[in-house]
Amino acid sequence: MNLPYAEPYKIKMVEQIYNSTREQREKWIKDAHYNLFNLRSSQVFVDLLTDSGTGAMSDKQWAEMMLGDESYAGASSYYKMKDAIKNIFGFDYFLPTHQGRAAENVLFSTIVKAGDIVPGNSHFDTTKGHIEFRNATAVDCTIDEAFDTTIDHPFKGNLDLNKLEHVLSTNPKENIPFIIVTITCNSSGGQPVSIANMKAVKEMALTYGIPVFYDSARFAENAYFIKLREKGYENYTIKEIVREMYRYADGMTMSSKKDAIVNMGGFIGMRSEELFRKASVYNIMFEGFITYGGMSGRDMNALAQGLNEATEFEYLESRVGQVEYLGKKCMEYGIPIQFPIGGHAVFVDAKKMLPRLPKEEFAAQTLAVELYLEGGVRGVEIGAVLADRDPKTRENRYPALELLRLAIPRRTYTNNHMEYVAASLKNVAERCDNIKRGLKIVYEAPIMRHFTVEFEKL
Ligand SMILES: *Cc1c(COP(=O)(O)O)cnc(C)c1O
Repeated sequence: MNLPYAEPYKIKMVEQIYNSTREQREKWIKDAHYNLFNLRSSQVFVDLLTDSGTGAMSDKQWAEMMLGDESYAGASSYYKMKDAIKNIFGFDYFLPTHQGRAAENVLFSTIVKAGDIVPGNSHFDTTKGHIEFRNATAVDCTIDEAFDTTIDHPFKGNLDLNKLEHVLSTNPKENIPFIIVTITCNSSGGQPVSIANMKAVKEMALTYGIPVFYDSARFAENAYFIKLREKGYENYTIKEIVREMYRYADGMTMSSKKDAIVNMGGFIGMRSEELFRKASVYNIMFEGFITYGGMSGRDMNALAQGLNEATEFEYLESRVGQVEYLGKKCMEYGIPIQFPIGGHAVFVDAKKMLPRLPKEEFAAQTLAVELYLEGGVRGVEIGAVLADRDPKTRENRYPALELLRLAIPRRTYTNNHMEYVAASLKNVAERCDNIKRGLKIVYEAPIMRHFTVEFEKL
């Protein structure tokens, strides 16, 4: 008999979670105005809201916490983080920040000005927010295949080189501060970018004299997909693949809450000393002195250790494997999901599950509420609520896809939890015909409305 797969870790500490009754959940979600961000975590059984900062640290990371050096300047923890960044990515310069969007704030304050254009593959919402906040424009150059959930393509995060060249050739160089490549591409479903694409982007960028930055939150999951799917890299270690990926980048922004497996943290990595000096000014203003930038010494230690663990094949096999486990279970139950399955989340196609719901009634948000009512499972809407209103016309923007994202925290749940989530979804799918109406917005903020929006059931 072939031996089945088993996780490369055992559990040393557990945290109790409680399930609830449907009756309780009906009251709680109504009180939360049908916005799952307003629920208390104690009202949730399996929490798949995000994989950001929600992972479980290892015994070695906890041990590192105790060794943290809390000196204001020049702490050994800073040097541990510096060495890890140099070894893993090859960058000589870095600035610590308290999370990913803070890295964006510091870097973009340094190099983005009003009127600029920042091309990339489906920019993450905080990235786009920080670009638009500076009256600059994010131009999405992702390949068309990414926008059809049924097309099987190994690297749906890739940039379309024709789209990119069009942006680079029709705008003055002074207005394009950099190209941003998001790995994996969160907004298109945790889809990876190939090394061939990274190389081609860098070559094109060089001919136009424009730097390339990687938005690197899930760089290790991206490397894992390269090992599995890209010819020529089968025998590389994950760390070798990561080094190869970053040969084609001039810098990176990082949300360490993802692939550095810590609860809080971030950084900017870069090659240029000049950029480092300029960005240091903003880092000191917004984040803190350049040897801690919004992080405690103990957190920098855990981050350095986390980077090393996240770039091990066995870890990634179990991490991405668990996401695939949930995705395959959903497919077995006939639930329409984004294909191929991404690295950190399963994306359910809500329009296919609730085809009769008009777009004004928010199919993905409706489905998220139904899944919570069914099993106390919290996912998140990636659809018209998140897409927000057009900043100029103030009309609702309706994206091509209405998705319910089930993001899986790292090393946190077992595959039994995944079985539970898939079964809850199956039960919702079976009564979809009876879900005839969706939700109506009764309150929304002028920007990034999804966090605080309030709904009424129609
Ligand atoms: C999470 C994320 C960010 C922002 O990071 P925070 O740590 O949440 O501020 C930026 N880009 C991508 C691709 C992300 O996934």
